[in-house]
Amino acid sequence: MKKKFDPATAIQRLEQFGEFGDVNPSITDSATFTFMTEEEMIKTFHGEGTGCFLYSRHWNPSNRYLSDALAAMEGTEMAWVTGSGMAAITTAILQLCSCGDHIVTSVTTYGGTYAFLANFLKRFNIEISFVNITNLESVRQAMRPNTKVVYTETMTNPMLQISNIPELAKIVKEHGTAKLVVDNTFTPMIFSPYQLGADIVVYSMTKFINGKNDMVAGAICASEEFINAISSVNDGTAMLLGPVLDPLRSSSVLKNLATLHIRMQKHSENAMYLARKFKEIGLKFVYPGMPEHPQYELMTQLMNKDFGYGGMIAIDMETPERAAPFMELMQRKGVGYHAVSLGYFKTLFSNSGKSTSSEVPEEIQKEMGLSPGLVRFSVGLDHDIERSGELIVETLKELKYI
Ligand code: PLP
Repeated sequence: MKKKFDPATAIQRLEQFGEFGDVNPSITDSATFTFMTEEEMIKTFHGEGTGCFLYSRHWNPSNRYLSDALAAMEGTEMAWVTGSGMAAITTAILQLCSCGDHIVTSVTTYGGTYAFLANFLKRFNIEISFVNITNLESVRQAMRPNTKVVYTETMTNPMLQISNIPELAKIVKEHGTAKLVVDNTFTPMIFSPYQLGADIVVYSMTKFINGKNDMVAGAICASEEFINAISSVNDGTAMLLGPVLDPLRSSSVLKNLATLHIRMQKHSENAMYLARKFKEIGLKFVYPGMPEHPQYELMTQLMNKDFGYGGMIAIDMETPERAAPFMELMQRKGVGYHAVSLGYFKTLFSNSGKSTSSEVPEEIQKEMGLSPGLVRFSVGLDHDIERSGELIVETLKELKYI
């Protein structure tokens, strides 16, 4: 029987010590590093060294510890850490695409990613086909000889659709010249996209992975070949565009990564509680862990079962005019914060169409089925989620929505 992939145990098994046997790796607070011989320095510049650190924009020991832990979590050969999730996404895509190339992408992605693909890449004459990623036939039909990237999010932001990574990987492999790039920000540990056939996995570590909302950070997990390519001193996007994560921040993310599996379980448990509550009171909502969700079975089949269905849930308030007082009153009652972002220990909520997806033109929001009143929740680590449920019901009653 094939051994179950276990991202949490893969991290737990790592033994990373500091300089003096410290149980946490030492923090390397240096931009540059000395070489004992000129020969070794020259070799390192040619990518042939014995592993000496050269300069922190390229590699840094603290970043290496975090990268090793992320590679263990994804089961990739290597990883590289960036100063934000957008830095991870843009670094990976710009390494893969040149002028005149073509990308097939889910139309439903984080708004910043949508804007990068739809607006920014125009200046390089890179063409984009936006597709409904749950319709595999439309992905197949969008592929062209010059397609270099198929891009999706495992659980899409903000529609919470589930991408069929194994089937997308098949389409990409049949095509030959493209790579499947997957943003797994909403579902670390829950999904292992590389194990399911993705070529490159990107993260905003700002969210669940770090979990403290005290920084922005990102990661690229991939083969050794790809990570060496992005960090090449001659033509690597990581080395030449300089999106590296500060090593002090890396050491902090690494410590938070050690509790990610427990946090994901609790986020999922709390979101499932709210989903059941919303169902009970007849709200229109989206949660991939409920059998009513169109990709519930697909998710159940592809997920690592120990971590639940995730902490993201959305209620459809239908209009921005109904969503606004709902969010304001929930904040005043203490359900959580009316704020963008996700993966925090407090519950966060915002109207996606007016905030983190506002870069997507309204007609396209409509076309993809994004309700203008969709309130996306990132459910927190509340010990008393029942109280949040009650406060949400109280809010809805006060506003006469139920
Ligand atoms: N990917 C997803 C799915 C996101 O939701 C976000 C931000 O909200 C990003 C990427 C961008 O991450 P960052 O803000 O760390 O650049």
